[in-house]
Amino acid sequence: MEPAKHIFVTGGVVSALGKGIASASIGFLLKQRGLRVNMQKLDPYINVDPGTMNPFQHGEVFVLDDGAETDLDLGHYERFTDIPLTSDNNVTTGQVYQTVIGRERRGDYLGATVQVIPHITNEIKSRIRKLNELNGGCDVIVAEIGGTVGDIESLPFMEAIRQLGLEEGPENVMFVHVTLVPYVETAGEIKTKPTQHSVKTLREIGIQPQVLLCRTTRPLADSLREKIGLFCSLPAKNVIEVRDAETIYEVPLMLHQQGLDQYISDYLHLDTPQPDLDVWRAKVERIKNPEKTVRIAICGKYVHLKDAYKSIVEAFVHAGAETNTHVELVWVSSEDIKKNGADAYLQNVDGLLIPGGFGERGVEGKIESIEYVRKRKIPFFGICLGMQCAVIEYARNVAKLDDAHSYEFYRDLKNAVIHLLPDQHEVTEMGGTMRLGAFPCILDEGSRCFQAYGTKELSERHRHRYEFNNEYRDILTRAGLKLVGLSPDGRLVEVVEIPQHPWFVGVQFHPELKSRFHKAHPLFREFVKAAGRYHESPAQPALLLKTEEPEEMESTQ
Ligand code: GLN
Repeated sequence: MEPAKHIFVTGGVVSALGKGIASASIGFLLKQRGLRVNMQKLDPYINVDPGTMNPFQHGEVFVLDDGAETDLDLGHYERFTDIPLTSDNNVTTGQVYQTVIGRERRGDYLGATVQVIPHITNEIKSRIRKLNELNGGCDVIVAEIGGTVGDIESLPFMEAIRQLGLEEGPENVMFVHVTLVPYVETAGEIKTKPTQHSVKTLREIGIQPQVLLCRTTRPLADSLREKIGLFCSLPAKNVIEVRDAETIYEVPLMLHQQGLDQYISDYLHLDTPQPDLDVWRAKVERIKNPEKTVRIAICGKYVHLKDAYKSIVEAFVHAGAETNTHVELVWVSSEDIKKNGADAYLQNVDGLLIPGGFGERGVEGKIESIEYVRKRKIPFFGICLGMQCAVIEYARNVAKLDDAHSYEFYRDLKNAVIHLLPDQHEVTEMGGTMRLGAFPCILDEGSRCFQAYGTKELSERHRHRYEFNNEYRDILTRAGLKLVGLSPDGRLVEVVEIPQHPWFVGVQFHPELKSRFHKAHPLFREFVKAAGRYHESPAQPALLLKTEEPEEMESTQ
């Protein structure tokens, strides 16, 4: 196997500079130049994976086809590059230590003292190199190091990539540093000192970056590029301006315009043609100049931290780009709905999305908001917990099962319409024990989902413990809820719809994880279209409320 070339992306000065987007953009540009690219995120935290972290702390957990629970940056990588990733693409300190300690316990180190250098660094290097052994290898690996240069936690990763740079030789390894060049209001000037310091720290570790990606709110004058280049030992043309963009999908275009992918190709001796960016560019233009606007409410528990719903937000951007629509997201806390009523927040929206979630807090507000949009025929899209809440709402208010709820929240329910599968009853550990990863689902041909996907069989990613309780299939179906998507063996209900409603879809999986900039997810696309139709001619609530409940239903249990 030919050795792969390596591009390491580090970050300096502050966190949240968009290293993930920079890495994804580089991966995309190189892929468009015809290279076989793979991506990796090296995370310095000690959690084995982010699956056990609170979304408030770390944002969304991005689940891959193989069930790996990974950092949200892998979402950017997949959305930009459309390269399918696996658990090998996210390495954490926790995983590295777990492996090394496991080996030590087995006696594999033959009495040696096990140390950060070389044992931990060797394990990190071998996990980076392993990517080239998968799927017939690749030409380039773009690996992003989490955290900020100077952090204690990330030092073993920095040391490992420094060593790898030496071992592979300069024409095979490149270091890209993402840094902040702030504008200081009181001085009326752009300041380069933080960048100088951050590169100094990097060089103390033994890493000399070849490219600086300078995050800035103002244009970076040539004189400043030269100054930064001089202090940081690189040519001024490699000091690249990455200004705040209207949309993150503009970033690859900015980098390309400043010659980054050409420079990478030259530096790493990759003889490749110019990338084809026409389709991408056209889509970016559509995002910037939409024809219409729809307002969609997202009602959840973590609405104060948008990163917790990153993939959903991006899926709406993709759907908007494909339908020429600006999707204005209205964030509503489910607890506020409980306090003040749904009308206070949902009066002027064209659609409601309830995302996934855990824990009982805010659930009653979600159920109330679903009842509101169901009765008013406002398009509804429920994802995972959102679908479970839709089932609970229907069971309570239409099938008249008054105490219907999920077994996740109350254990001695008469009507646990959402419950635990027998194989989950024995689970005691939290990490990696949910129903995780891609599973197939078979759709009813008459359903809205089938219309959207245009195919009967689909594969979507899951991350949940609880499921639709099959004991309630009959009663809920008779009440008008359609179970339009099932697992191939028919055991699991994956999709519910209300046929009498213009667009009411609940899915047990997470479609947002498979939406790409190149290809919006069909369910998000159709949901946005349905919201557009509602926006044009909102349903007449008084008219609709009369016909909505099947009369024969009564409280049976
Ligand atoms: N808490 C629910 C479950 O575990 C839903 C999970 C989710 O929305 N991702 O089944």
